[in-house]
Amino acid sequence: MTDTHRPLRLNLDGDALVHNWHVLAKASGNAATGAAVKADGYGLGAREVVSRLSKAGCRDFFVANWAEALAIADLVAPEQIAVLNGVQDKDLAQARSSGIAPVLNSPAQIARWKSAGGGRCHVMLDSGINRLGIGPEQLDEGLFADMEIDIAMSHLASADENNPQNSEQLQRFQEISSTILCRRRSFANSAGIQLGHDYHFDLTRPGISLYGGVERPELADELRQVVSVEAQLLQVRTLKQGAAVGYGGTYICPGDMRVGTIAMGYADGYLRSFSNVGQCRAGPAMLPVIGRVSMDLVTIDVSSTPELEEGDWVEVDYDLTAASAQSGLSKYELLTGLSKRAARNWI
Ligand SMILES: *Cc1c(COP(=O)(O)O)cnc(C)c1O
Repeated sequence: MTDTHRPLRLNLDGDALVHNWHVLAKASGNAATGAAVKADGYGLGAREVVSRLSKAGCRDFFVANWAEALAIADLVAPEQIAVLNGVQDKDLAQARSSGIAPVLNSPAQIARWKSAGGGRCHVMLDSGINRLGIGPEQLDEGLFADMEIDIAMSHLASADENNPQNSEQLQRFQEISSTILCRRRSFANSAGIQLGHDYHFDLTRPGISLYGGVERPELADELRQVVSVEAQLLQVRTLKQGAAVGYGGTYICPGDMRVGTIAMGYADGYLRSFSNVGQCRAGPAMLPVIGRVSMDLVTIDVSSTPELEEGDWVEVDYDLTAASAQSGLSKYELLTGLSKRAARNWI
């Protein structure tokens, strides 16, 4: 079967991904460096990400749920995958047969795991994010008895900021985890790695910065963008002064102008918050998004580039920092929202 032509493509830079992992590994000091590959490798494709990082030396991969775990289970050993959302009754059969360990997040999950036969697992301790994890009020004596805990972990809430919450969480994690029998301790996400040695423990768990997201200034100059987005012009027309462009007519042409319509829309993750503020490029020329982003289409001003015509490709400005500022979306949303209908070309 030949591949269907797709008028929207993501170019994914495998060298940049591996480079970013090495940057984070170096910044993690003596700690091992894993990879968060949940949400299909932050939208880029978990299988491609895991294959590349595994080859580069990464040994610990974190996914959210069991479907995500099974999607990469043939690529690495089961001991190298951890399921962050834990284990429900309906996951037990898969968990037991795959040999992949859950991250147990509550006394109920611990009890479930023990009664299913126990064995190697991980635990999430809540040190102050108050989201998922065993809270300090739940730390009964005997809770962790007879367990084979590999990683005792916790997760930072505000590591991208210089926030006193960071050191408070660190202290709490140190206190709690020091009383638990475990093989390894893990605390830092991408931003947490940059908070310094105290935050590294045995294993770090970067996600967003592997994919080029700069969350703190420390590594800003070293991390490289992994994804670039290109879309094809479906049509180019000259509109008259006063013409209203797109749904709601939110852009009125200030003069006669050439307007191009590209094959991308909010269904591809290019959300409506880019309306009238996003931009594309053709070589050095900037092509502003005009009018409202619709489901499958975006209109851009191509007046500056008369040679552009139907069928040409334009680059969508998807630099994570810039696009985040334009749209108000987080870098995480920009990546994980990228649709499955875009072609993904690893280079
Ligand atoms: C998503 C996630 C990470 C990675 O976080 P980033 O901010 O993307 O680096 C690490 N640990 C846990 C528990 C997570 O849920």
